[in-house]
Amino acid sequence: MLERNNVEVVTVKAAKVNLSTAADRLNARLLGSVAMYESEVKSERVAAAAERRAREGRFSGGMRPYAYEPDGRTIRDAEACHLRAAYERLLAGLSLAEVTRQLTAAGSTSSTGRPWTTSHLRTVLLSPRFAGLATHKGAIVGESEWPGVVDRETWETVRAILTDPARRTTPGNAPRHLLSGITFCARADCGRACRVSTTGGAGRARRLVYRCPRGHVIRSKALLEEYVTEVTLAYLEREGVRPLSAQEQVVTPARDTDLLRGRLEALAVDYAEGVVTREQFLAGTRTVRARLEEADRASVAATHARALSVMQGVPDLHVAWDGLDLDTRRAVMRALWRIELVPQPSGKSGVHPDGVRMTPAEGS
Ligand SMILES: [Zn+2]
Repeated sequence: MLERNNVEVVTVKAAKVNLSTAADRLNARLLGSVAMYESEVKSERVAAAAERRAREGRFSGGMRPYAYEPDGRTIRDAEACHLRAAYERLLAGLSLAEVTRQLTAAGSTSSTGRPWTTSHLRTVLLSPRFAGLATHKGAIVGESEWPGVVDRETWETVRAILTDPARRTTPGNAPRHLLSGITFCARADCGRACRVSTTGGAGRARRLVYRCPRGHVIRSKALLEEYVTEVTLAYLEREGVRPLSAQEQVVTPARDTDLLRGRLEALAVDYAEGVVTREQFLAGTRTVRARLEEADRASVAATHARALSVMQGVPDLHVAWDGLDLDTRRAVMRALWRIELVPQPSGKSGVHPDGVRMTPAEGS
């Protein structure tokens, strides 16, 4: 372009660049190539240094990370406390949106002083830095020289929770009622999960009710939720909330299920490539599936135990209950009870203690 437009080039460090003869142009191109070579070598050196720093677990500089001082190594206590609380609440089964609300309510902001958003908080919580791990280009390369804010176990469990594809983050999919799907029809030949629907119309006021899909039982939503909540809080007041067992505290079933799902995929690949026979494939998937179901059950039990732990040691259970989000309340209900609705004389949707069977759930 310079040649075409007769532009005269004067470099800062080299001499004047003349483009009038072939030899001059060759010289100019060489100058350009050498300059580019120097610049590339320099950036390779910079990249290599950054990688070495990361592998040695040293801070790579840049913006002040949340919960640390600008040196990237010294923990800023106030922020670290907020962060630990956020990890704990996620472990306890609270939703990310709820954890974000609670952080904001506690006066916490991001490292730049902006209000937390759920997506920013998610990015922060997923950062391996808080488990004391150094990364390079997104991959974990080793332990960091700075101390973590939480232990690796906690961080990995929260990562599994936040990256679980089954985790419902869109309100459209999430259950919007306290008992839907976790309350069942008591008829032996039915046993289906009850959902919320509307009743009334034709001159009568429309009301929300829990109903078995085959219509065996029907109960006023407001009255049933009130009754079940009262029974639950009275039970917790009387019995106290059982502390988590050591096993429940350390259990990280999310990782087990990830591992097993990975094995299922590997088996499928082996079968597709003809490495294993159809019989071997079927037998293999049967075993892995059985173990997966077991791990899923353990995972559900651990989530329930953690949900209950939110209620532990609070002075006023009613106040604590009001402060919980719907997901956590549902987790507490599932942890404690199997709830069944007993058919009443047809059309009656009032709530009578005889019409609601609350059996302690297994393991609670
Ligand atoms: Zn039914």
